[in-house]
Amino acid sequence: MRKCGKCGGRLRRVHRTFRQRFSYMAIYQCRECKNREFVPRRFQLHFGAACRCPRCGTFRVVRLKERDRIDPLHTGFLHYLEKLAGGKLHHCRWCRLQFYDRRRLASEVAAAALVDKPAATPSPDAAKPDG
Ligand SMILES: [Zn+2]
Ligand SMILES: [Zn+2]
Repeated sequence: MRKCGKCGGRLRRVHRTFRQRFSYMAIYQCRECKNREFVPRRFQLHFGAACRCPRCGTFRVVRLKERDRIDPLHTGFLHYLEKLAGGKLHHCRWCRLQFYDRRRLASEVAAAALVDKPAATPSPDAAKPDG
C-alpha cells in the first residue's frame, strides 16, 4: 500500500487523462489531505532539460561534491550511462538517494531560460563593406 508523502495517509489511484497516461504510470490521491502523487514512467525521467530524481521524479535535487557514504546510490544501466556521459553526482533529499545525471538543475535551467534571448538580427551597418 502506498502512503501519502505529506501526511502518511492512504493513497487511492485516480484516473489519468490521455496526456497523463503517456507521462505517468499512475497517479494517486491521498484520502486524507488530497495530496496527489505522480508516478512518472521511468523513461520520462531521463528526458527533459533538467535533472530529476530517478525514483520520485522531483526537480528539487541537489548536486553533491562527493559521494555520501550513508545514502544509497541508484544503480542501473541508464545510470551507468549517465555516469559515463560525464554525469555529476546528485542527491534527492526526499528519497535519500544518490544518482548520476548529466543535466543541469531545474533552477539553473530556469535561470538560463531567462538569460537566453532570441539572437539579435545583425544591424544593416555591419553588412556594409569597408570603404
Ligand atoms: Zn495526505
Ligand atoms: Zn526522489
